[in-house]
Amino acid sequence: MSTEPTIFERIIAREIPADVVFESETLIAFRDIAPQAPVHLLVVPKTAEYANVVELAAGNPALLAEVVSTAAALAAEHCNGEFRLIFNTGAAAGQTVFHVHAHLLGGALEEGKLAG
Ligand code: 5GP
Repeated sequence: MSTEPTIFERIIAREIPADVVFESETLIAFRDIAPQAPVHLLVVPKTAEYANVVELAAGNPALLAEVVSTAAALAAEHCNGEFRLIFNTGAAAGQTVFHVHAHLLGGALEEGKLAG
């Protein structure tokens, strides 16, 4: 757990604006500021306890399942229910924000294209 708030904590706290498409007690989803696909949403647990998906899976598997089911519901709404879900894990893999989040990509994806 980091000591300084990440950009996502600041979005959750509404200290900086974001195009929020979904919010619950536990999750928030908003459009990525630098989209890599026609639909590019970030699905983010509100807790700052987990830096990446491996930590989340170990610490709160039910919350990880909620990220996946929420991504599916958002994909049904935004891109006909078909989507790619990406968790960049580690700086060398392209992770820049160390607060667990799923990239939901959908809509006419280019073959092999990855976020990050
Ligand atoms: P990562 O590289 O950690 O997997 O993903 C971080 C993502 O957050 C990147 O795709 C980046 O474009 C997005 N991002 C970074 N800062 C902001 C911001 O201030 N607002 C929004 N909406 N997205 C952001």
